[in-house]
Amino acid sequence: MSSRAANDDVPVLIVGGSLVGLSTAVFLGVRGVPSLVVERHVGTAIHPRAALVNQRTMESYRSVGIEDEIAEAAAKEFVQNGAIVSVESLGGKELDYYFRNINEGVEALSPSQRLFITQIGLEPVLLRKAEQFGAEVQYSSEVAALEQDSDGVEATIRPRGGGPERTVRARYVVAADGAHSPVRERLGIESLGHGSFSDSITIYFRADVRPLLGERNLSVVYVFNPRLVGFFRFSIDGDAGFLVVNATFDEEGNRSVAIGEDTSEATCIRYVREALGDPGIPVQIENVQRWSATADWAERFSEGRIHLGGDAVHVMPPTGGFGGNCGVQDGFDLAWKLQHVLDGLAEPALLETYDTERRPVGSFTTEQAYTRYVLRLDPGLGKENLMPIVHEATVELGYRHVSDAIVLEEGDDGALWEDPNEPSGRPGMRAPHVWIDCDGTEVSTLDLFGRGFVLLAGPEGEAWCTAARTAADRMGVPLDTRRAGVDFGDPSGGFGAYGLGADGAALVRPDGFVSWRARGAGADDDVEQALARCLAR
Ligand SMILES: Cc1cc2nc3c(=O)[nH]c(=O)nc-3n(C[C@H](O)[C@H](O)[C@H](O)COP(=O)(O)OP(=O)(O)OC[C@H]3O[C@@H](n4cnc5c(N)ncnc54)[C@H](O)[C@@H]3O)c2cc1C
Repeated sequence: MSSRAANDDVPVLIVGGSLVGLSTAVFLGVRGVPSLVVERHVGTAIHPRAALVNQRTMESYRSVGIEDEIAEAAAKEFVQNGAIVSVESLGGKELDYYFRNINEGVEALSPSQRLFITQIGLEPVLLRKAEQFGAEVQYSSEVAALEQDSDGVEATIRPRGGGPERTVRARYVVAADGAHSPVRERLGIESLGHGSFSDSITIYFRADVRPLLGERNLSVVYVFNPRLVGFFRFSIDGDAGFLVVNATFDEEGNRSVAIGEDTSEATCIRYVREALGDPGIPVQIENVQRWSATADWAERFSEGRIHLGGDAVHVMPPTGGFGGNCGVQDGFDLAWKLQHVLDGLAEPALLETYDTERRPVGSFTTEQAYTRYVLRLDPGLGKENLMPIVHEATVELGYRHVSDAIVLEEGDDGALWEDPNEPSGRPGMRAPHVWIDCDGTEVSTLDLFGRGFVLLAGPEGEAWCTAARTAADRMGVPLDTRRAGVDFGDPSGGFGAYGLGADGAALVRPDGFVSWRARGAGADDDVEQALARCLAR
């Protein structure tokens, strides 16, 4: 059934092997799609950057069998379930607790919990898994050119240390090449949003902060004092960390316009001491990175056979810890679509829904990070026209995918997000997590999803199950059916979250999003039409 052309070197070429590129390689690999990942750097991350891995990302990693391995790696880096707090300085006055524990209040929403792990800890796990699944990862090389035609994309790969170039032909390209995305630039894709608004630096340092931390388990510490605004993260041993400095002020309270212009050791030590609240503490500076806080998204996420994901199409300030997570979800959305198209199960038009579904999520998430940045760190940017804050759980789990591959119900209000504490189960939303009983074992409904389509039916929905299996057989599409009370028990009654009558059914895509729903009985061919629509057939 495969339509992969024999003369392709690789079905999918991934430009950039950082968080999003490696995650995408894993999501493709688990579906049997090998990829070639090309990365400029010599190996996985050497700077911690992202650390807050949200529930949706952990659910995605759970679905490919690496949740436990990631949790183990995370435990080596951080005491989990820490707080996110704002202070005048670490040793000084506490101002506010954004979270007392990063999982407080969200435990019941998902079988997976939020984790703290840096890109240094996470990327090697992703790399190992990607390679196990058949990905080839070529480091110290860059994709120097991409030429697409009607059948595929030809890429020129240049080793950075010299040596012969390699020409590769791929059916599709995923560009996960970061905020300055050379691929996006070459395609002439414009950015929309708020632009860059702060010259920032990240100072990596060593200092014994244990006496200042005391017994507190603090995951992120925002610092607001008359001289400096930024945030800390510390190592598990309390002997190192980094300080992001977003703004500094002189004695008259004037804001510095270009922090990055003075990154001398003496200045960085002064910043760290001011933020720690201990003018005499020994501090050793290890590294300083200059970057720009930006809140932008791309005007389009795809161009022909090239699809862009991660920071390449949405760059947001770290406030909220959304950026990397949003990018991982780009890869999760793309992977099942690419596989279905490559395997001839879906028409190529399915890939057009990547942009339609993910762009609104990218801009929404970026706006949410921007609002948090302005309110938490720099009200001077102006509070007018800010998107109102939506709860973190909604940003992470409650966004909606709307496209031609989703069959909206009549009267749908078109909402682009909802509170996952009150899931509607309607098409376009993430299928709700409910603990169910399968042959005496408690599993999450989410554990049923991941490979093919799944039809979940109410106890009297046998006709839907039969119709779905018949349609799937006729179309040659893998599909599983599960009927409440027959194939699984619902001891908690939580399955009501799917909004189905006893004779209703919901069709869930391989990425765990509801694509169609019948609240009650209906015509047999409804489900076939829905499946065809979800696959652009
Ligand atoms: C201080 C800080 C804290 C953060 N905290 C969080 C957090 O808690 N949670 C969160 O979700 N996000 C967080 N983020 C954001 C997160 O780090 C980014 O969103 C994420 O790293 C983006 O991953 P990416 O793979 O899209 O891009 P990148 O990590 O930028 O990777 C792009 C890769 O592409 C490679 N590349 C570029 N061009 C080419 C080419 N032509 N050929 C080959 N390779 C190429 C680059 O070398 C690079 O490795 C934070 C960011 C910062 C700065």
